[in-house]
Amino acid sequence: MNELPDTYRKLLDAARASVAQAFLTSPGNTAYGAAALTVEGNIFRSGQYSSFNHITNVHAEQAALLLATMAGQPDVVALAIATTAPATQYARPCGICRQVMAEHAQRTGRDFDVLMAAHHGQSCEIKRVSELLPHAWRAAGASEPVLSPAIDADQSPLQSSPIRWPLRTGDQLLLRDGSLAVVWDPLFDEELALVRVILCRTGDRWHGVPDPYLTPIAYQGQLADRGRWMTARCGARGAFVSLRDVAAVTAAQPLRVAKREHWQPLLDALLDADIGEDQVTISQTHGPAGVHAAAYCLIVVRADEPTVRWVEAALQQQFQVATELSAVSRSAAEKHGLQKALPGGIDRAHRLGRFIHLYAWPTETVELIFTPTRCGEPCLGEGWKVIGHTSIYGTVTEASNASFVRGRFQVLTAEGPFEVVTYHPLARLIRRGDCVSLSGTLVTNRGRYCLLQMHLSPDRTVWWQTATDGVLPKPDR
Ligand SMILES: [Zn+2]
Repeated sequence: MNELPDTYRKLLDAARASVAQAFLTSPGNTAYGAAALTVEGNIFRSGQYSSFNHITNVHAEQAALLLATMAGQPDVVALAIATTAPATQYARPCGICRQVMAEHAQRTGRDFDVLMAAHHGQSCEIKRVSELLPHAWRAAGASEPVLSPAIDADQSPLQSSPIRWPLRTGDQLLLRDGSLAVVWDPLFDEELALVRVILCRTGDRWHGVPDPYLTPIAYQGQLADRGRWMTARCGARGAFVSLRDVAAVTAAQPLRVAKREHWQPLLDALLDADIGEDQVTISQTHGPAGVHAAAYCLIVVRADEPTVRWVEAALQQQFQVATELSAVSRSAAEKHGLQKALPGGIDRAHRLGRFIHLYAWPTETVELIFTPTRCGEPCLGEGWKVIGHTSIYGTVTEASNASFVRGRFQVLTAEGPFEVVTYHPLARLIRRGDCVSLSGTLVTNRGRYCLLQMHLSPDRTVWWQTATDGVLPKPDR
């Protein structure tokens, strides 16, 4: 349960806290608490209302759903349950509550998560309503339930893997509102990933979203209509999702899996330029459940500027030989749109080593995106300034938050204390008392210094000594 998002942790806490609100007929009876999280981000909680005749009981789950609905927020995305009952390992909803949940899910169209808290400890078990009651009773004549797309790892039409974090550039996301998106920059903001929405669902119909590069204004308009055009804390605007919004993830394919015949000139050019498999992610857009948008492929390549030039030249040669492949030239209007869409315009994007090319075959379009192998400029909040890429050496003085997705810890160096913010998976091993050297981008704000580690390379952590004061478990011998 380490991967549980903060929102779900808060929801579990709320459910546990509301156990104390249970209105019991006799003190010492088993108490239940429930908390409903709505799509608006609010939590409605309740304990159970017990009655002496046992027939007019109102269970905590039902009460929480009622409170949310009566507050005008029936779209519940998750419901957590906790109990004092010692008999079961996890709090289980009764059959009547399962029926209430199933009907609620049918009416809102959202097959929401049910978090069943462990009696001891902070963990829980999560099942969707449709898993808790697969063959729910339905009123005669009621239509087939229209639920959000399946998010089960085994059954998803996207062959998705379960939610995982961190997301990687190129990962395809099935969002909880049914939209399909590709991760654009997972390092953009705390708890948020910048995504590009590709397909949207309205009722049971799918439609493609305009291309953000070719028709940025139309793209922004559609995002705004769906409430996805928003401002991140660092000031940038776009489509952001939290892990809560992600129903399923389809990992991008590595280069060697991509064996599409007509991509071969492009893939050959990448291989000839010595671009390794680990530097390339490939994802192809295909709608869930039989929806087939125009086939569209996104290839994200980490490469330095000389390599990009080399690949460009190699592809130019291919155009002259292979008549099928063509570079899509941008119209003046498209260029104008790009100029407005990218902060600082196209020139700045090129200066930062970011390039976008479109290649078209008769049946398919490939978007080739080069991202620099060196760290790009981080997106910073107001008042922060970049000093440059550097290394620090010192002793870790505080590491209680080092194990989160965006880890933070403190290092005392000869030059003074540094705060380190890191996305590096290895940061989970950092403990107070460790002696380390760290490389990353140094930023400052009014005398405060912070080292950002955003990439696996070149932002590295090297241990010189690990804490031996009992903070780290001693290795077995
Ligand atoms: Zn119940």
